[in-house]
Amino acid sequence: MLTKLKYILKSFKNVDISNKPIPCMSCGACCYYFKVQFDKKYNPQVPWQKIKVISHSEAIMLGTEEDKGRCKSLDGVVGENCRCNIYNSRPDVCESFPVWLRDGSQNPKCIEARKHHGLKPEILE
Ligand code: SF4
Ligand code: SF4
Repeated sequence: MLTKLKYILKSFKNVDISNKPIPCMSCGACCYYFKVQFDKKYNPQVPWQKIKVISHSEAIMLGTEEDKGRCKSLDGVVGENCRCNIYNSRPDVCESFPVWLRDGSQNPKCIEARKHHGLKPEILE
């Protein structure tokens, strides 16, 4: 009960995360781990050559059709230097994937992906 209450309180807490480090360009782990699936209707900007249509409304980034696949739009070496080669046209799910949550804690999904690639899971502030 207490744990649940703590969780609820935490989810309402807003912390200034503007000064926290964003190490994504030397990471890229989440682009080589998760299925990157999105709604086509809200993502007309994503180049069609980079996606696979999987249903009437959904598409997935090529390379991420299977779990732990590498997005074909990811350039570079994970954990060293990485870059999304369609950065300005990437799907909304990528754009909204945060390193830091609103309560100031690191996104557990970010930790999971970094861990999988043998990177230090927690980002030092
Ligand atoms: S796993 Fe985290 S730090 Fe790495 S690229 Fe994704 S959001 Fe950025
Ligand atoms: S589209 Fe870009 S940001 Fe999204 S998973 Fe692929 S490389 Fe990463």
